[in-house]
This record gives sequence, structure tokens and C-alpha cells, in this order.
Amino acid sequence: MTVRTRIAPSPTGSPHVGTAYMALFNLAFARKYGGEMILRIEDTDQSRSSQASEDAILSSLKWLGLDWDEGPDCGGDFGPYRQSERLAFYKEAIQKLVDAGYAYPCFCTPERLNELRKKQIENKETPRYDGHCLSLSREEIEQKMKAGEKYVYRLKIPDEGVCEFEDELRGKVSIEWSQVDHQIIQKSDGYPTYHLASVVDDYLMKITHVIRGEEWINSTPKHILLYQGFGWKPPSFAHLPLLRNPDKSKLSKRKNPTSIDYYKDAGFVPEAVVNYLGMMGYTLPDQREIFTVQEMSSTFEIKRMSLGGPIFDIAKLKWLNGRYLREKLTREDVLRRMIEWKANPQFLDKILPLALPRLETFSDFFPLAQFLLNDVPNYEVDLLAGRLETGMAAKVLKIAEWELEKMPAWNREGLSSLFQKIADTEELKLKQILPPFFVAVSGSTVSLPLFDSLALLGPDLVRTRIRIALEKLSVSGAGLSKKGLKKLEKEYAQKYGNRID
Ligand code: GLU
Ligand code: ZN
Repeated sequence: MTVRTRIAPSPTGSPHVGTAYMALFNLAFARKYGGEMILRIEDTDQSRSSQASEDAILSSLKWLGLDWDEGPDCGGDFGPYRQSERLAFYKEAIQKLVDAGYAYPCFCTPERLNELRKKQIENKETPRYDGHCLSLSREEIEQKMKAGEKYVYRLKIPDEGVCEFEDELRGKVSIEWSQVDHQIIQKSDGYPTYHLASVVDDYLMKITHVIRGEEWINSTPKHILLYQGFGWKPPSFAHLPLLRNPDKSKLSKRKNPTSIDYYKDAGFVPEAVVNYLGMMGYTLPDQREIFTVQEMSSTFEIKRMSLGGPIFDIAKLKWLNGRYLREKLTREDVLRRMIEWKANPQFLDKILPLALPRLETFSDFFPLAQFLLNDVPNYEVDLLAGRLETGMAAKVLKIAEWELEKMPAWNREGLSSLFQKIADTEELKLKQILPPFFVAVSGSTVSLPLFDSLALLGPDLVRTRIRIALEKLSVSGAGLSKKGLKKLEKEYAQKYGNRID
């Protein structure tokens, strides 16, 4: 049997370090046993998926040197590797489940489900579907379908008993069926949900080991039940601990840059980032700190993983990156990579037109351009608000942070209209809201034109700088309070629509 592992990112948003972490461990495991790793795109949530995000995920994993054997870009014998292109497989699978009595259509309206949930919460029960539509007769079902009533398919969960399965890291896991919801496996738009699609694909793609984040452990009983309904042998499961912020909360972009692109833009080398991810919950048998993917793979033992949540600490990553620059790369290598990074003529030429009106001599250039080349600028928090009240400065920074998440294409025009929209909505002049951004981004109240600078810095560096500005305001006592933030969230939803987090 060939060992086959997979990573299954959903193409929603920036490429996440958590995806790279999973890719590294899946790759190390597959390589150790001479197997293969597959990359599958899980885009069943059509409203949140985008081609741009898929492209970004693939290219950032490539940048890290985490390569896959089969995937949407390189093909393979078990394609297509994008779930939106595999709908026929899922349709057939759902029919099989219905025939076997493992799935059933549910016609409940959102109103009924809300009401049910409310009652269950009032009675201190776990909110879960009550099996209402299980009692429908075949005729009733046919009638409703004919009449065009909306429906989903749900997985029929046993009323009692326990689901037991082996986790390669945790040993036996037991979850009571009463804690498991009658999972929707096909949505009313005809698309499957993650649970169904991933089980069908793991089977059809001959995945032998599902190595994924621990947030999926409570879903595993549903998956085991699906395998049973199909009459398929389930793969082995290993649920890895999730990366954490230094304060132990789940790694999130509200506290840490989580986009792989950030690390690229901020001047890290990919080998160090991958090496650091390899240290998350894992140590090599000889305890060495500096290692390549190859070295990690050849000695890899999944049982060596520790279950405590590993802390992703940028300060440590920086330290490791420094060691790479001094110990692992040659001086020529450092020079060549630094030039490729941002000390290249193409990039400097993008800055030049912005700086030129302010130059007298060449020596004026680098001080002006510095904030476009560094990671985070230094400044005093008092500078941030400018003429705005500090509360208002925090408010516009926060709104911009949310709005920037929604920018479809990152360019000067888009940025300029985004800030104009914020000014209009807040009934302020553009001129009034920009000073906090000048400072957050460049560290100074006077600097190169803002929108061009934001465009050059890119989304990840900009978001981090805005987040740091907000943190500085909070630390100084001038930021948004918990209550203030809650209020702003509501106000934002009314004035700007939903956030994407
Ligand atoms: N699409 C899921 C995610 O992005 C994959 C989970 C899994 O590996 O099963 O988290
Ligand atoms: Zn129902």
C-alpha cells in the first residue's frame, strides 16, 4: 500500500501559515514512507471561494518549497483536484447514502430551526437538529419535492451510543452520538458540504492517512459514519494541535500575521519559516534546531508530536531566520536573495516616481523609501491621531482594517475609493481621516503619497501595520474598549455590510 496524505485548503482569503504547517507534516509523513502528498482545493463554499485565493495558496506553498505530487496545477490520476469540478461524484454518493438509509431530506425552514435552537438553549441542551423530517413518508417527500420546496440532505446520526476511533496521536477517542448533530451533507443549492465532499474525495483519491488540525476531531464521528454508510474502510486519522498566539489563544490574524505572504514581504527566508513550522510541537530525534524538510522527513515519527498547543512566536522565528542568514546561506546567497526581495531595480523604480519630487540628492532617497523596505516602522503613539480625537482615530483604523479585508484587487484606485467611502460614510473629509494611516504605515506624518505606498506595500504588511497601530492605541489607553468594539461591530454591519474574517 502506498501512503497517500493530502492537504485540502479552502480558497478563501490569504494563504495561512496553518495551511503550510499542515502541508509540512503531511509531506514529512508521506516522504518518510516513500508515499505521495495530494493537494485538493475545497471550494464547496462558492460564495467565499476565489481563484485569486487558490493561486495565492499554491504560490506561497511553492515559495516555501512544500511541494505536492498531485493537484489542480499538475494533475494526477485521481483528478479533478478541485471539489467544484467533482459535483457528479457527490451527487452519486448522496443517492447511495439515501438508499442505504444513512441520509434523508430535510425541508425545515430557517424559522423552525431558529425556534428549535432557541428552545434547546433555553433548556440547556446542546443545540442540534431534532430529526423532525425523519418521520416524513416517501409520498410526503415526493410531494414536497414536486412542489419545489427547498431542502437539504442530512446525515442520520444514531440516537444513542458512542463513536470510538483511533487517533494516531491521541489513541482511542470516544464521542457520544448525542453530542453529534444531524450534519447537513448537501446544501439547498445542491452543493455538498465539506464533510461529505472530503470523505468521498479521501476515498476516491486513495488517501491512507488524514492528518489535519484538531478542530476537526469532533467532526470525525460524522466522517466515520459516512464511511460506514458507503461501506468503505476509513483511513487513519491524526489530529495535530493548532498553532497558538503567544497568549495561547488560537493563532489569529487579529494578533499575529497569519498570511504566508506577510513573511515573504517582511523579508524572511522560506527555509527558516518551514524550519520554524517544523518545530511546532515537534522535535527531531537528535534535538537539532536547524533542519531541512528532507532531514525532518527522513527521521519523521508522527508519535513524536506533542499535544500541547505550539506557540507561533514571531520573535523566535526572527531569531531562527537570523541564524539562517549567518549559518546556512552563503554571503552571495544572502545578497542575491536580498536583491530579489526588494533591493531590485524594478521595485526601486516603483518608489522613485513617488520620491522624485522630494529629492535634492540621492542621499534623500533611502530615508524617504525606508518605510517601504522595512517590516514595521517605529513611532510614538501620540502621533497617530493627528487632529482627530483618539477614539475617532481608532475607529477609522478599525473600519479600514475590516474594509481592506474585502478589497477584491489591491491597487491604488481601489484603495483611494475605499478611503473616500470611509470618509463619506463617517461624514468626514478624506483629509481628516488620512493622518492616522500615514503614521501607522510610514511612522511619520509626512511621507510619500499614501495610496501609492499602500499599493506597493501590499495587503499583508499594511494590515499588520494597522493592527499594530490599534494595539499601540489600546496599550496607551486610547484605543477601543471591549464595549466600544462591540458597538462598532454593530455599526459597521449596518453601514458597511458583513465583515469577512
Ligand atoms: N478544507 C478544510 C480546511 O481548510 C480541510 C480540513 C481537512 O483537512 O479535512 O480546514
Ligand atoms: Zn427538517
